[in-house]
Amino acid sequence: MEKLAAGIDLGGTNLRGVLSNERGNFLARSKEKIDLGSERAIVEQIVKMICSLCNSKEVEVSALEGVGIASTGPLDMHKGMLVNPTNIPFPKVPLTRPVGQELGVPVYLLNDCTAAVIGEREFGAGKGVDDLVYVTIGTGIGGGAIVDGHLLLGKDGNAVEIGHMVVDPSGRLKCGCGKRGHWEAYCSGKNIPNFVRMRLAKMDKRKVKKSLLFKHVKGKLAALRSQHLFEADRAGDELSLKLVEEIGVFNAIGIANVVNVYDPSLITMGGSVVLKNRELIMKPIEEHVGDYTRNRIPRISVTPLLEEVGLYGAVAAVLRYSYVFK
Ligand SMILES: [Zn+2]
Repeated sequence: MEKLAAGIDLGGTNLRGVLSNERGNFLARSKEKIDLGSERAIVEQIVKMICSLCNSKEVEVSALEGVGIASTGPLDMHKGMLVNPTNIPFPKVPLTRPVGQELGVPVYLLNDCTAAVIGEREFGAGKGVDDLVYVTIGTGIGGGAIVDGHLLLGKDGNAVEIGHMVVDPSGRLKCGCGKRGHWEAYCSGKNIPNFVRMRLAKMDKRKVKKSLLFKHVKGKLAALRSQHLFEADRAGDELSLKLVEEIGVFNAIGIANVVNVYDPSLITMGGSVVLKNRELIMKPIEEHVGDYTRNRIPRISVTPLLEEVGLYGAVAAVLRYSYVFK
C-alpha cells in the first residue's frame, strides 16, 4: 500500500495542512487562521485539521507514516517545541508530544526553512542536487541548506538563520531581534517600510512629496507597506526605482554571503516578497551578486513549489528524512 503523510505549516498568521502520498501529490489541503487562544488551542487545532484531512479522503489517521510540522522558529527540535517564537505570543509551545499523544503516530518538528530546502530537494527544483540552499524573503528572511547531501540542522534545529547576517556595517536600522544592520531589518516584507522611511527622511522633501509612492500612501508614510513601494516602481516612479535598487543591492550582499559560506550549486528563493515581485527582486540580485562573491556563482531561481514549499518539506521530513529527526 502507498505510504501517506500529513504536513503542517505553522506560520505567523495561518495554519496550513496537507495530506500527501509518497510522491508528494497532495490529496487534500486545508488552511485556517491560527487559534492563538492558548498553547493547547494550537495543538487542538493541528489535531483537528489532520483528522479532517484524513476523513475527507477516508483515510485512518493510524495509517499515516507520521506528521511533519514546519514552523517559524526559533524552536527546539529535540524537545519538539517552539521556544520564544517570533509570531506566537507564548514562551514555549510544546507540539510533537501532545500532537503525537492525540494522534498515535510519529510527529516531527522542523524549522520552516529547513523544511523548505528538503521539500525543494525531494519534490521541487533541487532533485538530485547535493548542494542546495533555499532562501525565503517574506515577513522575515531565513534559509535552509543541504551541503554535500547533508541537511544542516544545528544544535536546536535553527541553523542557517541567514536573515540575521550583517549587510550594513553602519547599522542604521535595528532588527526585530534587537541587533543592528541585519539583512532582515532592511529587506523583509515587514521591514522594507522602515528602510523606505529612513531613506525618505534624508531626501529632498519636495521631491518626496511629488513622488508616486507618496501619493500611493496619501501622504501617510506611517501607513506605508512594502507592496506600495513595488507597485510605485512598476508604475515607473523614479524614487521607488532607486529604493528598490538599493534593497536589491542588500539582497545581493545577503545572497553573496550565502554563496561564499555554503558554496551551493543551486539557490532557490521563495517567500511572499519574492513571489509577488519576482523581477524586481531577482534582477538586482543577478546584477550585483558577482560584486560580492568569491565562490563561483550558482544557479539562482524562484522555487517552483511557491508558497507550499514548506508543506512539501513537512511531508518529506516524514517520508524521506525521518531518520534525521528521530
Ligand atoms: Zn536580526
